[in-house]
Amino acid sequence: CADRHQYRGSVSTTPHPSSSASPGSATLWLQPSRERSLTRRHPWIFSGGVARVEGAPAPGHTVLVRGADGTQLGWAAYSPASQIRARMWTFAADDTVDDSFVAARVAAAAARRSLLLSSGLTDSARLVFSEADGVPGLIADRYGDTVVCQLTTAGAEAWREVLADALFALPGVACVYERSDADVREREGLAPRVGLLRGSPPATDLVAHESGHRFAVDVAGGHKTGFYLDQRDGRAAVAAVAAGRRVLNVFSYTGAFSVIAAACGASSLLSIDSSGPALAVAARNASLNDVDVGELMEADAFTALRGLRDRAQQYDLILLDPPKLANTERQLDKATRAYKDLNLLAVKLLAPGGVLLTWSCSGAMSMDLFQKVVAGAALDAKRDVRIIGRLHQPSDHPVPLAFPEAEYLKGLVLQAD
Ligand code: SAH
Repeated sequence: CADRHQYRGSVSTTPHPSSSASPGSATLWLQPSRERSLTRRHPWIFSGGVARVEGAPAPGHTVLVRGADGTQLGWAAYSPASQIRARMWTFAADDTVDDSFVAARVAAAAARRSLLLSSGLTDSARLVFSEADGVPGLIADRYGDTVVCQLTTAGAEAWREVLADALFALPGVACVYERSDADVREREGLAPRVGLLRGSPPATDLVAHESGHRFAVDVAGGHKTGFYLDQRDGRAAVAAVAAGRRVLNVFSYTGAFSVIAAACGASSLLSIDSSGPALAVAARNASLNDVDVGELMEADAFTALRGLRDRAQQYDLILLDPPKLANTERQLDKATRAYKDLNLLAVKLLAPGGVLLTWSCSGAMSMDLFQKVVAGAALDAKRDVRIIGRLHQPSDHPVPLAFPEAEYLKGLVLQAD
């Protein structure tokens, strides 16, 4: 992204969804009493709450939302294929959802990150976190001068060009790259889209700087937008406890925790992940930071942990950060068993006084339930285990009080007897 003068944005073929306030625009009528969550400023309208839609809006178009009694409740992005049938842009019926409205939302979200980005801690942050920033369906992560975005809803898709322009207009941004290949797009009836939106292509050696460490960001091929920004507080927690410990990093991805642990004086390190390409980046991260991250094992974590247990291995610090095991409430039962198995194996591998950092990034699993699952695991392992800290998604992944669904990442810092 060295040169921001090469404009290579594509021309939109999407019907423009703006001027929602014009006469004849579409209206979504709610079922009786279904306006309650909206009056509490919760942004989702489920399909079951919709009485009828007037005006045949296209996917992503802005609809006026009315209560059953006709009260105007605001404007929403229409998603006909999704169970979440509409997402509120605004609860003020006299707002106009147009280019400048959408661009201003993006700019305001990015401005809120100046708290973090001007702290000197890092040059990388999530700039826009979808509903949590009033831009439903837009995820935008910044790594230095590069912004990687995901458009996950019909509404965001309809505003693609405006969103791309708004991100490219942010100070110091040289490149906007799209990674709209998350599974959630299927639920919106959207095909994957990946590629450059604005500026010159992202650097192949793009690096996120954080707390004096350097992490390679694989924009085109990595998970999510290339790096797990949401584990920033986790990385700080690892740094605080790693010195002198034998460390096991399970679901290591590109080894960010391993690099930190090595830099902070871990006595030995084993990182496990099923992705060979992720482990190759972990090796690169080790050399970028001039540390030895020890063994990188490409394996299924469940199998590998059982193998370590059977060989009676012991660790002083275990990091357990599995992928999202429950996408929906319906998958929660099965996921609960998987979390229990993993944590049971991990607790068994803890040396006396050992520390386990364990996470769930499933939004459907509450901190309360997660703690119960982990408590069951410790009980089965016949170990006394104490909570000595709790971990959450960091400040650039905010949780609006009116939208608790934005909270998805939770972790426990545990110490065994
Ligand atoms: N802790 C990492 C992020 C982990 S993301 C960080 O801070 O960067 C979850 C990781 O789990 C991914 O890298 C994925 O490749 C890996 N994974 C998914 N299923 C797995 C399995 N069954 N066994 C081992 N690794 C798995």
